[in-house]
Amino acid sequence: MDVFKTDILIIGSGIAGLSLALKLKDLGEITILTKKRAFETSTSLAQGGIACVMGDNDSFEFHIQDTLTVGDGICKKEVVEMVVKSAPERIKDLINWGVKFDKDPENPKKFHLTLEGGHSRRRILHVGDYTGRAIENTLIERALEVENIKILENFLVVKLITEDLFKPSKILGAFVLDLIHVKPVIFLAKVVVLCTGGAGKVYLYTSNPDTATGDGIALAYQAGCRIANMEFVQFHPTCLYHPKAKNFLISEALRGEGAVLLNAEGKRFMHKYDPVKKELAPRDVVTRAIDMELKKTGAECVYLDISHLPSDYIRKRFPYIYETCLKYGIDITSQPIPVVPAAHYLCGGIYTNIWGQTDISNLFAIGECACTGLHGGNRLASNSLLEALCFSHQASLKIKKMWNELKELKFKQPLIKETAVKEIKEEKVFISHNWDLIRKIMWDFAGIVRSLKMLEFAIKRIEFIKNEIKENWPGIYLDLDTMELKSITIVAELIVRSALQRLESRGTHYLIEYPFKKEKYQKDTIIFKNF
Ligand SMILES: Cc1cc2nc3c(=O)[nH]c(=O)nc-3n(C[C@H](O)[C@H](O)[C@H](O)COP(=O)(O)OP(=O)(O)OC[C@H]3O[C@@H](n4cnc5c(N)ncnc54)[C@H](O)[C@@H]3O)c2cc1C
Repeated sequence: MDVFKTDILIIGSGIAGLSLALKLKDLGEITILTKKRAFETSTSLAQGGIACVMGDNDSFEFHIQDTLTVGDGICKKEVVEMVVKSAPERIKDLINWGVKFDKDPENPKKFHLTLEGGHSRRRILHVGDYTGRAIENTLIERALEVENIKILENFLVVKLITEDLFKPSKILGAFVLDLIHVKPVIFLAKVVVLCTGGAGKVYLYTSNPDTATGDGIALAYQAGCRIANMEFVQFHPTCLYHPKAKNFLISEALRGEGAVLLNAEGKRFMHKYDPVKKELAPRDVVTRAIDMELKKTGAECVYLDISHLPSDYIRKRFPYIYETCLKYGIDITSQPIPVVPAAHYLCGGIYTNIWGQTDISNLFAIGECACTGLHGGNRLASNSLLEALCFSHQASLKIKKMWNELKELKFKQPLIKETAVKEIKEEKVFISHNWDLIRKIMWDFAGIVRSLKMLEFAIKRIEFIKNEIKENWPGIYLDLDTMELKSITIVAELIVRSALQRLESRGTHYLIEYPFKKEKYQKDTIIFKNF
């Protein structure tokens, strides 16, 4: 089996992985592995923008307070302060790398700042309504210019290699499937960084791309890392509802600019759920309100209406959303947009400290796969691109500091034999069927509004699928869908088990039997490793 050595192995080519690579470019050889094409990331899909205090009437204190309020009492304050206060420097990094944020048309010396739910001030920098694509493309361009950075596409990481397989120890590298040449390979590195993104694909309806199967969380869990706060799954209130549209998000920024929600009868309803903030209430409030309206009326969707604003303004401010909706026959300048909620962001993940370090030496986790303590029970809109940037900076400082002490790798070959990798023999329908089952179970029983009965029901079904996988497809298979099925099954189980442990309603986690917050709460629901 081919064994490749690199100094730093980064798994994932979104904002977390790419920005870290650029920060570490002078340290040694960096390899970025990505399981599809480099741009196929959640980062590319981000529309709204990135939060940073810049406005005259804004302050760090306001941004900190907004983050803590939305996080619903369980954010780590020191992390929130670090992220909010370092945001202006991290935005400068993006600008220096070449990202061109929109300027204020009335004052071109300043950036245009938009407003999103949960924010008390305008503080979202953006590039039209395709901020993520602008960031992703720019970072890929910069990374490709650096000789030390290699981006390898279609390499699926399926196992972390650690010094001691039976307790959290030191990372040595990763076991990887080269999906183009259909063969396993090993990458060895002094430092490994998981930047594998979220896990929206665990749910039937999601705004996430196909890559978001929670692989990094499953890998870290299996290697012995603590996983925290998995019960906190954020559902975005407004994804386009159209039979042909897959995962298309209608950005919160529309509501920030004045769009209103209407039920099937064409009536506004948000005042019933949050009389003060209405459409600009935090995401979980808006999501549950829509869920409630749908259940009450039996309708399949609600509507988001921005058509009262001037057409020219709408087309200029939201070109991507305008064009995409038009493709589906909806002219947003004159018609309301049919929308439904969908799984959007995982607040929990691999438990890290303020430097992005996990329980395994020299293994870091950054971006959506990590649980740093910034989001607590719910994520404030546009804080996640920022979190990824701030933590890649933090991790880069730590890695630089420890670099001289990192020894040359000694690796007893082979920890995994090539023959351990199998091919799927039977029809793939067994795999795709289980994929659909997991996603439906999670949507129906561990979604926006949960009950203990539903969660117990979900766990029994997930366990059944888990055992079936163990019996029929043990070990590593040279097949993306099979390995991703294993990831979503592990992540689904972690979400449901965490939800069963939190006997209260907090942040995005709403439990019918316990509709209120506990006064004495657990800070994190930590699921310990699997051994
Ligand atoms: C539609 C949408 C809109 C959003 N809008 C905003 C917004 O406006 N503002 C904001 O702050 N946040 C937004 N978010 C959230 C934000 O985009 C993500 O949280 C963030 O981009 C995650 O970045 P990341 O680098 O952690 O992961 P991603 O950008 O998702 O990158 C993950 C990478 O890991 C790779 N990978 C995964 N598993 C493996 C494996 N096993 N082997 C190899 N490679 C692997 C993937 O191929 C991919 O390259 C939005 C998200 C979505 C989906």
